[in-house]
Amino acid sequence: MNQTPDNINSPTTEGFFGAYGGQEIPPELKQVMDEIYHSYNEIKDSDEFKLELHDLQRHYVGRPSPVYFCRRLSAQLGGAEIYLKREDLNHTGAHKINHCLGEALLAKRMGKTKILAETGAGQHGVALSAACALVGIECEIHMGAVDIAKQAPNVTRMKIMGAKVISVERGTKTLKDAVDSAFEEYLRDPQHFFYAIGSVVGPHPFPQMVRDFQQIVGIEARQQFQEMTGELPDTLVACIGGGSNAIGLFTAFLDDDVELVGVEPAGLGLDTPDHAATMTLGSPGVLHGMRCYVLQDDAGEPLPVYSIASGLDYPGVGPQHSHLKDIGRVNYHSATDSECIEAFLALSRTEGIIPALESAHAVAYAMRVAPQMPGKRILINLSGRGDKDIDFVAKKLNL
Ligand SMILES: *Cc1c(COP(=O)(O)O)cnc(C)c1O
Repeated sequence: MNQTPDNINSPTTEGFFGAYGGQEIPPELKQVMDEIYHSYNEIKDSDEFKLELHDLQRHYVGRPSPVYFCRRLSAQLGGAEIYLKREDLNHTGAHKINHCLGEALLAKRMGKTKILAETGAGQHGVALSAACALVGIECEIHMGAVDIAKQAPNVTRMKIMGAKVISVERGTKTLKDAVDSAFEEYLRDPQHFFYAIGSVVGPHPFPQMVRDFQQIVGIEARQQFQEMTGELPDTLVACIGGGSNAIGLFTAFLDDDVELVGVEPAGLGLDTPDHAATMTLGSPGVLHGMRCYVLQDDAGEPLPVYSIASGLDYPGVGPQHSHLKDIGRVNYHSATDSECIEAFLALSRTEGIIPALESAHAVAYAMRVAPQMPGKRILINLSGRGDKDIDFVAKKLNL
């Protein structure tokens, strides 16, 4: 496994990872995307940009985030040693700030006047609002009215940091409608607006760009883990929504003899319609400007998806992951809602670390396999903290 097959890590000039990615968008947007790619390539290698980003990663986000050995959880499982990459300790509470900062800096340098995005539960909206406040650029977040009612604290956070929150009243008033609404606003003036995509999805160059901004996670973790143990981990585990935290961790290890596992939400079960296990049960298709695995009906329309973790309920997945699945470099598994809750409590009660429900899917998978892996070491990307989820879990469990 010590060789990188062609095209595993950087897309072709048309933005393809294998058969996936590209730009499935109207010609006028293609031109705008190409401009973004051009500016990105110019800016990303300039010393000034690298220094500014590095400085903010260190002093604003709080990087490097630690790698932590879960002594009690590992002992309880009685097999592999469990380690965490603590992205939950980042400013704003998750890995999302890594790419939001990069996107905000890029938009500012390109002279854009406004950054736009949709948000579901509000995590992307909060991280982006923080990055825009910091960089000094206008921020407009579209959010379904139903989600606004459910996620009041995140809406307040965005407003306090100066973002304009648009309540989307059409359709089911949730994430899909928020995407449509934000995209319509973007199309009014794509020359001056910047649509900040929240994962390694969408048209080229976003899957590559967001991946580049996230790969700091794996670069740090690889070095930290070697300093701690003298070796590389045997297995890496990360949850998969669009795939940004997973690819952020995996990238630095693609050429190593390390097993890579992505964990999708199996929701109420893979034999029910209520899951978002795109890799496990989807098929190649087109979604949001890219070719990728999609949970779709016979007409190619995306299916409604569900997960207890709103950051994971997406019917597609990044093109690089789609390629990594086909070539067998990453294995994709799933964890159900109830396994997720069990892992959420286990990590909280053995280590005093409350994980995001998204990240708890990765913990659940590790807990499932660890007992059969004595002598091995598993490194989990703890993509975010669970403060946002405590009321929901307490109510569900009658705590
Ligand atoms: C948004 C989110 C995810 C899912 O997004 P990816 O792009 O798959 O990483 C995972 N964990 C947390 C904490 C999130 O906020």
